[in-house]
Amino acid sequence: MSIANNLQTIKSQLPNHVTLVAVSKTKPVSDLMEAYEAGQRIFGENKIQEMTEKWEQMPKDIQWHMIGHVQTNKVKYMAEYVSLVHGVDSLKLLKEINKQAKKHNRIIDVLLQMHIAEEETKFGLDNDELDEILNQVQNDKKSLENIRITGLMGMATFTENQTQIKKEFLHLKSIFDRLQTLQTTNNYQPTTISMGMSGDYKLAVECGSTMVRIGSSIFGNRNYTK
Ligand SMILES: *Cc1c(COP(=O)(O)O)cnc(C)c1O
Repeated sequence: MSIANNLQTIKSQLPNHVTLVAVSKTKPVSDLMEAYEAGQRIFGENKIQEMTEKWEQMPKDIQWHMIGHVQTNKVKYMAEYVSLVHGVDSLKLLKEINKQAKKHNRIIDVLLQMHIAEEETKFGLDNDELDEILNQVQNDKKSLENIRITGLMGMATFTENQTQIKKEFLHLKSIFDRLQTLQTTNNYQPTTISMGMSGDYKLAVECGSTMVRIGSSIFGNRNYTK
């Protein structure tokens, strides 16, 4: 199956309100261009340097999503162009994104990453840390005016156990529902739940996902040994 065919198949399975992020990490620009020519305009990368190299080479109507863990000292390299940062999991990182966005006179949209998996290794906030960030954003509208929190992101446990994955997705959805009850402001407009990857996106959509991040089902398996 070609990249264009894969994209078409996946899109035909997604409801209209669900946004598809084509996760292109490790893949060459030629593969991304194939997706671009098939109409895809949103790409997800997990390394800032790789994303920036691709951004430099590719058409400028692409929206670049940073889906990986972000080191604070690297935010400056993507602040000029990044469209959505999925993995914000500390106030420190949020403040740095705000600072760098300000330098470019932009507002950068971010998702707060929640820890929903059982595994210890996955990044993300717990409920207390989430509340701390939300409080700060609500109380500090002036100094955090170059970011906008547009929702939540989460990754389920890496397992075949669908019941487990479903439980974790529904947990994220319940946190999202709670966010909906808070007053929206310029920098707080939660509308997006980013959850679901190649192996679990159908389940994620059933559980309320509005944004899926799909890599291998579009571009094929990744080869990390190169
Ligand atoms: C790599 C990656 C994906 C895509 O994974 P696939 O299983 O290839 O679809 C989604 N989200 C994040 C955060 C990733 O790092």
